[in-house]
Amino acid sequence: MDLTSPRVIKDIAERFNFSFSKGLGQNFLLDAAVLDKIAEAAEIDEGVMEIGPGFGVLTKRLCETGKKVVSVEIDRRLIPVLEYTLAEFDNVKIVERDIMKTDVRALIKEEFGDAKISIAANLPYYITTPIITKLIEEKLPIKNIVVMVQKEVAERISAKPGKKDYGAISVLCQYYTEPSMVEVVPAGSFFPAPKVDSAVLCMKLLDEPGVRVEDEKCFFKVVRASFAQRRKTLLNCLASGFGYDKPIIENMLGNIGIDPKIRGEKLSLAEFAKISDVICKLDSKIK
Ligand code: SAM
Repeated sequence: MDLTSPRVIKDIAERFNFSFSKGLGQNFLLDAAVLDKIAEAAEIDEGVMEIGPGFGVLTKRLCETGKKVVSVEIDRRLIPVLEYTLAEFDNVKIVERDIMKTDVRALIKEEFGDAKISIAANLPYYITTPIITKLIEEKLPIKNIVVMVQKEVAERISAKPGKKDYGAISVLCQYYTEPSMVEVVPAGSFFPAPKVDSAVLCMKLLDEPGVRVEDEKCFFKVVRASFAQRRKTLLNCLASGFGYDKPIIENMLGNIGIDPKIRGEKLSLAEFAKISDVICKLDSKIK
């Protein structure tokens, strides 16, 4: 059964009386070469978890690696479809659940024991960023995450300091992972076609965070504050984010050699770390 064929997809939809849900981001991938790229980039050795199998086009490709595949799907109507499309495989388990309400650590433990797994998915666009944030912040036993996302999201996550796409999500992802764009995938490679192009993004989890900080919570507070008002200077952003008078922040930035007039988007992870290490000391002294 060729699940990359629009004809086959339409036949299955008809057979199961299935209508595509826009709200659940159901745009199914039709490009076999992209499936190969995702499976290869995932470097699966101990097993793989998929989010949102749909009709099972990527699931099937992952099953062909011979490793254990666990797929989490929210839409109950897809369970009988997946039983049909994946009938030939005995290395797959479909879990009917909302990934955002799933204890992913417990699920990995239950299904893969102590193995370090890969995550592969063509993500539903309406919750791409919350899913990625959840997966990387929970410090799960995963080696890499290979996901299809909107092209613009992939650009933001992999953007370097000084680029217009660089923002809090870039810093968060680059703190925990090494992101890289694998391939841009045009909207026409999906059924139904979405409005925008997509891209395959590979995020390799780092053994140690991208930069050393004394207090992670404070580091991310600095990052959020620095990007909260993109047109304002770092000085203004930090003063309003942390509630200090400007001269205190100005003095602190001067002591560590950072220009108070700079904008957040110019700062590297190491510079955010430097700020965070002094501002959290200041915070604990004053409070
Ligand atoms: N993997 C298939 C493919 O590549 O053709 C389908 C990908 S489609 C973009 C996204 C899939 O995620 C759909 O099957 C959708 O029902 C499912 N989904 C949406 N929200 C979800 C959630 N919160 N938890 C788990 N699956 C979800």
